[in-house]
Amino acid sequence: MIVQRVHLPVVRRTAPRGEVPSDPLLDNFARRIRYLRVSVTDRCNYRCTYCMPEELADSLVFHARDAVLTFEELERLVAVFARLGVRKIRLTGGEPTVRRGIVELVRRIAAVPGIEQVVMTTNGHLLPDLAAPLAAAGLGGVNVSLDTLDAARFARLTGRGDLARVLAGIDAAGAAGLRVKTNAVALRHENAAELRALCEHAWSRGATPRFIEHMPMSSGQLYAAEAELSSAQIRAALEAELGPLVPDDGDAAGRDAGPARYWRVAAAADRRVGIISAMTDHFCGDCNRLRLTATGDLHACLGHDDAVGLRDVLRRGGSDDDLIRAIAASVTGKRAGHAFERATGGGGPRKHMIGIGG
Ligand code: SAM
Ligand code: SF4
Repeated sequence: MIVQRVHLPVVRRTAPRGEVPSDPLLDNFARRIRYLRVSVTDRCNYRCTYCMPEELADSLVFHARDAVLTFEELERLVAVFARLGVRKIRLTGGEPTVRRGIVELVRRIAAVPGIEQVVMTTNGHLLPDLAAPLAAAGLGGVNVSLDTLDAARFARLTGRGDLARVLAGIDAAGAAGLRVKTNAVALRHENAAELRALCEHAWSRGATPRFIEHMPMSSGQLYAAEAELSSAQIRAALEAELGPLVPDDGDAAGRDAGPARYWRVAAAADRRVGIISAMTDHFCGDCNRLRLTATGDLHACLGHDDAVGLRDVLRRGGSDDDLIRAIAASVTGKRAGHAFERATGGGGPRKHMIGIGG
């Protein structure tokens, strides 16, 4: 694989001036933002082939510590977002659990007035030790990445991963009372024959399995169209083994809270499965979220590179109104849909998944 150094996203750093908008989190397509995904670090203890393989990691400069938002800065931003109507925060990375003090950060964010849910997306490697303290600090749930139940394949796909630890992490999360979902990127030549086994593993632990279509981040460098399994193919493969699936989007854990479409096995109502079809049947019309990078760049869309820098507003002593104007500029610029291009072999955003966190 040839990995090229890719450019950083285009970030607007000039602070907008003028009136504070009356409804800053309502975009031009009548979508209301209620959900903020916060990347707390661009570092990771794994090197997944589709996200940040060793070759790409070697060519990148990770953020210096003082470039990354402090806990105080994160707490302030979350408080401003909460004031504007955000109710749910998802902590992500890189790998969020490698951020020093992550338990304390969860405690601080969960205590922000207006925030109803704090959840996390994690590779699960550190959950055996962290699940209980995270739950005690106010974390409500974890989405744990689990692409395969085969230890050798897991080690290869994750670069440095340890399947046994992640499985123990999933169990620790369940034991700590966290809601657990598992995330597998569906890859034709890797886990296509394991979809049912991944579901059964999750269901046997009271967790909800989800499958994600492979996306062409990093300018599509890590993307191969022939490796992709479409959501229709994922569903057909599951139905071939489990029988008919019926839509099950109707509860709070369904569409409104995130991009997955949920289905359940017709013959077993408690067996739900989520499919995230970012590529073939996108969910942009319902998008209710923004993404904040570890350095304070606010991205209105996973599939576009433009962003508005909030860290500079914070660090030059900006007021809440200054932050709100900058946030509103991002929301106003939110596009109708993403820019993933299957037809052209995966032209996608230049940014890396590891920097934005999914
Ligand atoms: N390190 C954490 C983890 O792996 O869960 C959080 C960050 S990771 C970037 C968030 C999610 O993005 C994971 O579920 C991962 O599998 C998924 N992901 C990474 N690269 C992807 C890609 N190219 N297409 C689709 N999903 C991807
Ligand atoms: Fe790390 Fe998650 Fe990316 Fe894997 S998917 S390299 S665990 S950030």
